[in-house]
Amino acid sequence: MADLKHLEVWYVTGSQRLYGDEPLKKVAEHSREIVIGLAQEKIPVNIVFKPVLTSADAITDLCLDANSAKNCIGLIGWMHTFSPARMWIAGLKALMKPFAHLHTQYNRSLPWSTIDMDFMNLNQSAHADREFGFIGARMQLNRKVIVGFWQDGNVISEISAWTRAAAAWHDAQRLKIARFGDNMRDVAVTEGDKVEAQIRLGYTVQGYGVGDLVACVRNVTDAEIDKLVAEYEQSYVVAQPLRAGGDKRQSLRNAAAIELGLRAFLESGGFKAFTDTFEDLHGLAQLPGIAVQRLMADGYGFGAEGDWKTAALVRAMKVMSIGLQGGTSFMEDYTYDFGQTHKVLGAHMLEVCPSIAEGKPSLEIHPLSIGGRADPVRAVFTAGSGPAVNVSLVDLGNRFRMILNEIDVVPPDQPLPRLPVARAVWIPRPNLEVAVAAWIHAGGAHHTSFSQSLTAEHLQNFAEIAGIEFLRIGKDTRLAEFKNELNWNKAYYLLRNGN
Ligand code: MN
Repeated sequence: MADLKHLEVWYVTGSQRLYGDEPLKKVAEHSREIVIGLAQEKIPVNIVFKPVLTSADAITDLCLDANSAKNCIGLIGWMHTFSPARMWIAGLKALMKPFAHLHTQYNRSLPWSTIDMDFMNLNQSAHADREFGFIGARMQLNRKVIVGFWQDGNVISEISAWTRAAAAWHDAQRLKIARFGDNMRDVAVTEGDKVEAQIRLGYTVQGYGVGDLVACVRNVTDAEIDKLVAEYEQSYVVAQPLRAGGDKRQSLRNAAAIELGLRAFLESGGFKAFTDTFEDLHGLAQLPGIAVQRLMADGYGFGAEGDWKTAALVRAMKVMSIGLQGGTSFMEDYTYDFGQTHKVLGAHMLEVCPSIAEGKPSLEIHPLSIGGRADPVRAVFTAGSGPAVNVSLVDLGNRFRMILNEIDVVPPDQPLPRLPVARAVWIPRPNLEVAVAAWIHAGGAHHTSFSQSLTAEHLQNFAEIAGIEFLRIGKDTRLAEFKNELNWNKAYYLLRNGN
């Protein structure tokens, strides 16, 4: 996916017939102008104007149309004039697409010297959107409420973030995840209820024996391998043993065959995310390293050790971040530096996405201490510095919980000449002790989806669309309050879900 412009958000304006034709024409004109204005901004999807809605039937028809329109990922609603909200009940009851309530008005400034009742009646969203807000609250509609003047940067930015979350939600509704082998034996947090995930989040997880993948790898031709190896040589600084004539050249060719086979398998099955496990590699020469890294860079979701929840999350965050600066990757909190500023060294055995790399990755081969297969080929690099987020989705048995930590990626204190894997070094906000204690209290996983391009707003919008719990650990987090939040949420979900 190069961009998200093939996706539509419908811009819906509510009114009523009370005012006669002239004001309604004005309402439509203004609404159109806002849509044209928004289209010129950095909103990643196509905003589509819809005729002004003045009756319950028209509203219901529009919501039903939105449900069945394949490229419609959500609605933005605005009440320019008064739209009695009982007209919205049937439509909102039927609506299956995400909803954002834009509380704005057409005019920026109040025309103090000329304002009369005609102007007041036309530009009355200040109270019309409150009437609409009530029915949203009464019906417990999952929605984002965006307040401000439609040309202002904060409004554009909030709309953009929500459309990205809606695009990821849309993708998740048809997402297929291929799972080679099972979860790593005895591991708890990577497990979960796949049926509940499909009901709640949309995606489907389908298991395959690794032999199905091996068959695809065996189908790869020498000519295809030659071509991909040439691409590796273009893209990376290739280590001496992997170069032509080097004593590990065959390992590079094996890695390329795995990438080609895996790619063919995923493409033919329509999968956009996958998992593997080092405990189940029968017939594969090595644990997929560079193959997984490059597939992630192309937008595939990935979770190691059978972690399908993180695979789905990485995919969702890949979709959310299309066109933004910075990368998104599968990640794992690996080890700490309790030196002057306490930091985390994040990495994985192999599978970190080169989209987060600073500089050209080097392609290397090293032994893997677990898994019992041949040495795997992997791209090695360090993530660029700057703000980022780490996100985890866990299954608590009666609900899904998303946990996000805002972090600051920093350069390593010193070079890491003997570390044979891609890595990122970061300082969690507000600091390591509070962030990690909060994370552990919340049951956050060791696996995460890491992103330099997304913020808490994107993920919170996604969690709200999905109707799942969202916890943010950031610069203002205090542990005592965070623990209260966990207790309150526990009570809330108990009441809401009844278990
Ligand atoms: Mn792991």
